[in-house]
Amino acid sequence: MDNRFDKYTDTYIENNFTAITEKWCKFLNKKGVTKVNLYSGYNYTINALVLFYLYDNMGKKVSKKDLTEFLNYMGIYPNDVQQARHLAQQSGWYIISGTRGDIEAKKLGLNSGEYVLLTLDKPYPYFKKEKREFIEHEDYWLYLLDKYKNKCATCGSEDGKPNRYYPSSITNLQQGHKNPSKPLTEGNIIPQCEKCNRPDRNYFIYDDTGRVTAIADPKFVLKSDKETQIEMLEHIIWENKDDRMFVNSIKKMLSEII
Ligand SMILES: [Zn+2]
Repeated sequence: MDNRFDKYTDTYIENNFTAITEKWCKFLNKKGVTKVNLYSGYNYTINALVLFYLYDNMGKKVSKKDLTEFLNYMGIYPNDVQQARHLAQQSGWYIISGTRGDIEAKKLGLNSGEYVLLTLDKPYPYFKKEKREFIEHEDYWLYLLDKYKNKCATCGSEDGKPNRYYPSSITNLQQGHKNPSKPLTEGNIIPQCEKCNRPDRNYFIYDDTGRVTAIADPKFVLKSDKETQIEMLEHIIWENKDDRMFVNSIKKMLSEII
């Protein structure tokens, strides 16, 4: 029996997670790094366990295999552990990944599927490039929470209470973009639960009521069926038929293919 995880008792995990949360409060919260909750209902969250394991091995290489084996030890059997990558890119924790080919990864000699949590004193340096900029106006966020009565703009789940559609998950309101291609600053924020503030939402632009109003990433169109794609193309071409530059560039594009 593999006993390298035996030290991971509930008390050990809880104590270490408290230390992580304290660091988050002190250094990372104000930089917009997403808080990770240890529990969802009575269970540990996978994000928390992955963050905990990286923290317990801070500065050392951790492979996807290590993470998977640790989660298995904790009684969780995920298909593919992507959490370490997401914690860096989407949540801002300073986790270097070999897969992503960061400069630090090259320096640390990380291979694909290997991660290192470098520090809890600073956010992931590429985090700002992920367009989740540091919010200077903490008051504005408090004002928004008040305006939305501590509820998710999209689904109405209340902060600290079970999610309306995923009752086993406790709502933790996050700063969601209205337009993901613009910085997370005043006027571009709505409170959203973690279920509504998911990465796939980067495809859309939202209004103040958390409803989708437009597509933010044209690649999303490719998820539609062929007929819809052709129809969309017709709309776009028809709408721009009087724009000579547009027509010429379409003509050129077609002539290169045909
Ligand atoms: Zn929601």
